[in-house]
Amino acid sequence: MIKIVMFGPQGAGKGTQADRLSRRLNIPHIPTGQMLREEIAADTKLGQKVSEIMKRGELVADWQMNEIIRDRVNAPEYQNGFILDGYPRNVDQAEFLDYQIAVDKVLFLNLPKTEVMKRLSGRLTCPKCGAIFHKVFNPSIAGDKCDRCQTVLQVRADDTPEAIAKRLEQYEEETEPLHEYYLKKGVLIEIDAAPNIEQVGLSIWEALGL
Ligand code: AMP
Repeated sequence: MIKIVMFGPQGAGKGTQADRLSRRLNIPHIPTGQMLREEIAADTKLGQKVSEIMKRGELVADWQMNEIIRDRVNAPEYQNGFILDGYPRNVDQAEFLDYQIAVDKVLFLNLPKTEVMKRLSGRLTCPKCGAIFHKVFNPSIAGDKCDRCQTVLQVRADDTPEAIAKRLEQYEEETEPLHEYYLKKGVLIEIDAAPNIEQVGLSIWEALGL
């Protein structure tokens, strides 16, 4: 049983690595950004509320995210462990999470800014199953269709230059302080996210020592 948080700059491979690890460990993956994109696609009340915020690359309100996470992490099917990807996004959310559960390990996927830009331009996602591809670094077999469910891949609505700039600014201001927060708690593991998907996956596996 292991409760993992994954954080790092946009494009570091959180979604890709969390998905792989969740399959390997057979524990659920909780990707908050993808969950919100599904709400938007299904045109739910929540989706309508967050759509414009996300398109601009801004953060959804803490109370809204906290509510979503509280319901998940306390549900029976998550008691054998899980991987949180995209939450917490700031120290207030991290404190809220600590009131709910004890986090075992925090994987910080570190990637220099120059690499971040390369990874975000060219990223393609599946609107149906959330699988993530990259035109150069991780192309799907058909190029424009998802390997898993054959849905036509899309560029994320917030992978525009303006929204990317905003999201990186948010990351530096809001999310980077999580490094210090989790370091002090003694649960932080730093992973070099610059190598390819296989190599980063291996580093994560070795660092977790499972
Ligand atoms: P991601 O897929 O993790 O890059 O998240 C995409 C977008 O979803 C973010 O830019 C935010 O607008 C929103 N979002 C996801 N997780 C959170 C969170 N924990 N707190 C606030 N907003 C979030």
